[in-house]
Amino acid sequence: MFVEVAVPLPIDHPFTYRVPSGREACARIGVRVLVPFGRRRVTGLITGIVDGSSLGEREAREILAFLDDEPYISPAHLAFLSAAARECLAPMGEMLRAALPGGLPRRESPTSPRTETVYVAPAGSPDAALTPGQRKVVAAVLEAGEISSSDLSALVKGGAGIARRLVAKGILAASVREKSVTLAASHFPEPSGALVPTPHQEAALARTGVALASGGFAAFVLHGITGSGKTEVYLRAIEQARLTGRQSVYLVPEIALTPQLLGRVRARFGEGAAVLHSGLTRAERTHQWRRIRAGEVFLCIGARSAVFSPFASPGLFVVDEEHDSAYKQEEGIRYQARDIAVMRAKMEGAVVLLGSATPSAESIQRTRTGDATLLSLPERIGARHLPEISVVDLKGQSARRGADRYFSSALEDAVEETLSRGEKAMLFLNRRGYAPVLTCLDCGTTVHCRNCQVSLTFHKQDGVLLCHYCNAKEAPPERCGACGGHKVAQVGIGTERLVAWAARRWKEARVARLDSDLGRKRGFYEDLLSRMHSGEVDILVGTQMIAKGHDFPEVTFVGVLLADLSLSFPDFRSAERTFQILTQVSGRAGRGDRPGTVIIQTLSPEHVCIRKAAEHDFHGFMEAELAEREALGYPPFGRMLLLRLWGPKLERVQAAAEEVAEALSRPLSEAGISMLGPAPSPIAFVKRKHRYQILLKMPQRFAVGDLFPDLLRPLRDVAKKAGVRMEADVDPYNLMV
Ligand code: ADP
Ligand code: ZN
Repeated sequence: MFVEVAVPLPIDHPFTYRVPSGREACARIGVRVLVPFGRRRVTGLITGIVDGSSLGEREAREILAFLDDEPYISPAHLAFLSAAARECLAPMGEMLRAALPGGLPRRESPTSPRTETVYVAPAGSPDAALTPGQRKVVAAVLEAGEISSSDLSALVKGGAGIARRLVAKGILAASVREKSVTLAASHFPEPSGALVPTPHQEAALARTGVALASGGFAAFVLHGITGSGKTEVYLRAIEQARLTGRQSVYLVPEIALTPQLLGRVRARFGEGAAVLHSGLTRAERTHQWRRIRAGEVFLCIGARSAVFSPFASPGLFVVDEEHDSAYKQEEGIRYQARDIAVMRAKMEGAVVLLGSATPSAESIQRTRTGDATLLSLPERIGARHLPEISVVDLKGQSARRGADRYFSSALEDAVEETLSRGEKAMLFLNRRGYAPVLTCLDCGTTVHCRNCQVSLTFHKQDGVLLCHYCNAKEAPPERCGACGGHKVAQVGIGTERLVAWAARRWKEARVARLDSDLGRKRGFYEDLLSRMHSGEVDILVGTQMIAKGHDFPEVTFVGVLLADLSLSFPDFRSAERTFQILTQVSGRAGRGDRPGTVIIQTLSPEHVCIRKAAEHDFHGFMEAELAEREALGYPPFGRMLLLRLWGPKLERVQAAAEEVAEALSRPLSEAGISMLGPAPSPIAFVKRKHRYQILLKMPQRFAVGDLFPDLLRPLRDVAKKAGVRMEADVDPYNLMV
């Protein structure tokens, strides 16, 4: 008897091993085994039983040990993972690495969950005289009913210490429980459960309810403007799925940016929810994964890898902000979590709910072909109006000098008025750093990264020039490296410079910044959110990070400094991305009782994505966008596959790319697939590697997993011999490098 074993290594094919005689009963799909591998021993997973007769004379090595009595991964889950691997042209071993948080451990070591202290208030009111700090702690405990020491400290400064002393005095009681590593408390709990769904929410839930009850595959696209109550629909649909005895997967683009959402999920589902994301330690992730596999929870909320949650019978896949490109994993195995969710829902006979204020062209096209049903939430909760958006043509600003040229008087006046009313403003600029380019005014030379074909960005706060592609740092030059001139100018504007400008212009205002330079620092983000909520920030400056999902009722004005930044990318999705980001950032204005206004500054006021964003006309934009995509055969009207080749020697990369293209040309034209390239990538030198690409366009629904694995395997080896790496990216999102 022989079995196929996948090892968690980036190798294209499984290996065949012999089952020791007498152990045939142990050889079940999904069981971990210890196998010899070269001169090592590795842990693998049985992925198939092989018919021994087809092996011919080949000598297969023997399995050393079986590590499980029951499958570590159920055969059904394994079938899904292997279908997913085929779809993204990834080796099964790589898929296992992506899908199993702890990899394939040899021994399933017990992950001991961390514990924490929780406090409760005994019945009756404390009669001891309390200090103000103690009173705050007691009030927080009473309000929460039960609260962990870390949550307490987040609410009251030094809260945990105070609580300990109150326990000693008998005013509070304490117990120890397993720490919920995952659902950290929101600082801004909101009422839940008692809400009465709006008629639009009701209508959407009626459709999901019927689909869930029928137990078959169904896809819905939930188009709801910002603040229309989409999250509430997700939470109730999860409840519906639970009533049918099935589990839910709830995907969000970036979980670290959604502490409020986690608070809501915890308020609703308590410990019935697991959380998976990259911010957890490996042990924590493994612990969560096992709770899911063991059926201890009915919900997993997480970033893209949560789509691989090992639930026995998932009935619902929610994909929030489904248009977000964060769902495309860009390192290691490249998969689109939203598309994998749809695929898995089909395999499981489950419901998939794709929600967004700006659904992707792909999803809207699904609703047009009948592959999905469109559900709409066209109104904001509480009859709040969408903000009024005006567009300002920046081209008339050339008379102003320096950073002033990025501020129209309309924008200045609007911020001024907002502040004078005691309200808050957001300024959005999709570029971090101080200045994106340093240029010599004498000879025109700009400072480039030595590893990449891009200019370096000046980061004033850190006093460095930084490459946004390879993270190389350099000291800013005092003279031009080419001509020795002294006039090296900082050209252009990033968020740091915008903050400096705003702080100079409005001296009384408290200006804060949020971008990925700061936002990834531990605690910074939560701290900023709570400062925003308590009204300690008057002007918030930031990149996309300020656009995502926040609800700051006091923000009544949003200014977009330069809408053109995302439009200028040589990428067929650039108009769609610009529309999405403008809509999203505009949606931050006027979420409270006062109406909001938005100003979009741009150099291309006539562009359809800017006009339609200003008119809140999603469907108008999508119609124009889809017509253009169809004319050019771009997704969603065709599929694409990008082959990237890179290596240290330009001639070799070029030669390998030509060889690959040559070898592919016949089989591809037979399959009706067109080929663009080979050509240097738009950014052709990154991290000291030269880059070439070949872009393949094929019909929609083309099964890439059927044709390409066998076609590409030998070519990858050919490239490798020349010192060139080759990677296949199915339905690529990044066409630049
Ligand atoms: P979205 O996800 O579309 O941005 P949310 O679900 O977060 O919208 O809802 C926005 C706000 O409205 C939240 O504070 C939420 O609690 C509240 N809300 C949602 N549905 C209702 C409802 N039916 N009645 C009252 N408030 C609601
Ligand atoms: Zn670089």
